Amino acid sequence: MPNCGDRSLVLVDSHIHLAEEVYRDDLDDLLQEAKRDNIACMVVPATDTASWDRVLDISKKHQELLPALGLQPHDAKEYTPELIDRLQALCPHLAAIGEIGLDFHYDLSPRPIQIDNFRAHLDLAKRSGLPVIMHCREAEDEFLRAIRDIGIHHGGVVHCCTCEWSYAEQFLELGLYIGVTGMVTFPKLKTVHTIAERCPLSRLLVETDGPYLAPVPFRGKRNRPAYVRYTAQAIAALRHAELTEVCQATTANAARLFGPAQCPSLNL
Ligand SMILES: [Zn+2]
Repeated sequence: MPNCGDRSLVLVDSHIHLAEEVYRDDLDDLLQEAKRDNIACMVVPATDTASWDRVLDISKKHQELLPALGLQPHDAKEYTPELIDRLQALCPHLAAIGEIGLDFHYDLSPRPIQIDNFRAHLDLAKRSGLPVIMHCREAEDEFLRAIRDIGIHHGGVVHCCTCEWSYAEQFLELGLYIGVTGMVTFPKLKTVHTIAERCPLSRLLVETDGPYLAPVPFRGKRNRPAYVRYTAQAIAALRHAELTEVCQATTANAARLFGPAQCPSLNL
């Protein structure tokens, strides 16, 4: 780990599931480590409704954690209009709606329900003034259709983006940010390397997606906020750019998307 005392090396982990059970025992230690390594904030998206309380609870205790709530595509079968009403009431406490989206790879919820769930969350984001954190796997056409129909009114990110560049270009045309994870350090993932090389720096976010997808040299282990720096380093190397350039751009992007007021520790 490089010496990260320099303000120009501040990073934001734009996506990490710190409410999950695997982080319960040592969350305070991990946040200390993150602070030491200049990770100013972490965006903590819920996945299912069971994790909503824990996301709100830890982000109330730690000002560097930005809460996002939503129902992810795997659990879309839980979707009801009442659930959206419940979420709406919580919106004043949130930095974003997420994670939401479509996953036609695992198909853990029926596709028509995934689509209804995704569209209802997009509509809520529009009404509530919040950005969206989106997941899309092997569902790009339906995903784009929903976004074009409803619109992204307060910004959004396609997190853990692994799609073909032709789709990433369409996301960019729609004004979205692109989230890159530690997968960019995996040697064979050409699609992710291409995204990291070609995406304008002004639209790039870095994320761990922990506890999953730990970067090389920690592949297969539990991911942690401080590891987001390996992603930034890999992106800088692929682009032949300075690490400070990647850090400053991605941190400014996160502040723009989620609102600088959301994270006092950013000091922007
Ligand atoms: Zn996630």
